[in-house]
Amino acid sequence: QTNIEQDEITSLQERTAKLAEVNWEEVESFDKLPLSKKTRLGLREHKFTVPTKIQRQSLILSLRGIDVVAAAKTGSGKTLAFVIPMLELLYIRKWTNVDGLGAIILTPVRELAYQIFSVLNKVGKKHEFSAGLIIGGKDLKYEWSLVHNCNILVCTPGRLLQHMTENPDFDTDNVQMLILDEADQCLSMGFADTMNYILEGLPQERQTLLFSATQTRDVKDLVRAGCHNPVFCSAHENS
Ligand code: ADP
Ligand code: MG
Repeated sequence: QTNIEQDEITSLQERTAKLAEVNWEEVESFDKLPLSKKTRLGLREHKFTVPTKIQRQSLILSLRGIDVVAAAKTGSGKTLAFVIPMLELLYIRKWTNVDGLGAIILTPVRELAYQIFSVLNKVGKKHEFSAGLIIGGKDLKYEWSLVHNCNILVCTPGRLLQHMTENPDFDTDNVQMLILDEADQCLSMGFADTMNYILEGLPQERQTLLFSATQTRDVKDLVRAGCHNPVFCSAHENS
């Protein structure tokens, strides 16, 4: 069992290295990408076969560990574009329950957090990671007990910060990936203080993915979000 998994990981890493030479237009199906069997099964079960333009453009970068700043209009499939590389990163690093929190997905609105959580549960179903939805509206203490068992958190900024500051069991030291959905809104004035506190509390060594409907090219925003040499992609037509 473990040997088979190690063989798969080695092969995925070899194929991922070759992504540098791949043109996004060649990625006609998810099967062309170096994805774990568990992710491929999750995609297939929900009839996701052909990646959208923003998925192709960003996956060939994000799967290589590159920080990505992506823009594509609403409905273009941004959720899978960030959920897939997150699952793959944790899988390749052999993340388990003892490793704690490995990835955080932030989104400005509760309703969007619900939607992301639902996509994650569908496509990530074959993986063994634990995921939590932290959006407030529930008793904070009730969430406490859930949160410290989670490998992946989908949250709104305010509620995440509340856990970071008030919950003694909450540990973000191991976070490998930070994703901002609707990144322009997450980084807007309204969330400025909250986001600054959150970003200060996360490890510098991590992959960061920013997704929104409009391109965030404001250098200050990217620096604030902790992006390292980010690559931009946008899919505005025929995506
Ligand atoms: P966005 O965040 O860009 O607004 P979503 O991630 O919410 O877009 O996806 C919009 C819709 O497209 C969803 O119903 C989703 O299931 C569907 N979708 C996403 N990727 C694919 C794909 N590769 N093939 C078919 N449908 C997809
Ligand atoms: Mg979206």
